[in-house]
Amino acid sequence: MDYKCYCGTSLYYSGGEWLCRSGHPVHLCKNCQALNKSVPLQWIPKYQRWYCYECEKYAPLFGKRPPTIDQATNLQVRAMAATTVSLSSQLIRLGEEVKEIENRREKLEEKRYKLKSELSSLSKTEEKDKAKAAKIASEITKLTALIKETNNEYKLKAKEENAVMAALNRTGFRKG
Ligand SMILES: [Zn+2]
Ligand SMILES: [Zn+2]
Repeated sequence: MDYKCYCGTSLYYSGGEWLCRSGHPVHLCKNCQALNKSVPLQWIPKYQRWYCYECEKYAPLFGKRPPTIDQATNLQVRAMAATTVSLSSQLIRLGEEVKEIENRREKLEEKRYKLKSELSSLSKTEEKDKAKAAKIASEITKLTALIKETNNEYKLKAKEENAVMAALNRTGFRKG
């Protein structure tokens, strides 16, 4: 079913909700919602009422007119502001996550450094040292793999951060 916004353009379904490309509000049929169906009400200009094609009924609670163009523009501006706020908070969260990964990587590198110096202080001829050296070497290998994993995690997160930053710049948001 091609559901339309009251502005005449087709609605699209994204992230679990019906949306108009111009950011107009979409009213859902309450009866259908009660049945866990997401059905947008359709504005019938001729009767100045909202209609549900699924229930084949006019919606009693939405007898009101759709917003005027000015109200719609306001809603668009508000939707834009909400996007900016949401992107900013995403950016803050991502920044914290990047920092957390950096700290984690630093600790792992410190640990590896200590093990490496411990390893170099061990004798290569004494039997008891040999066993210890083997154990430390295997720990270093594990740490190296972990550091590599953390590096990849860091790269992905930094990429995500850049994407959000770019999206935020596109909204015309200026820091400070
Ligand atoms: Zn619309
Ligand atoms: Zn319905």
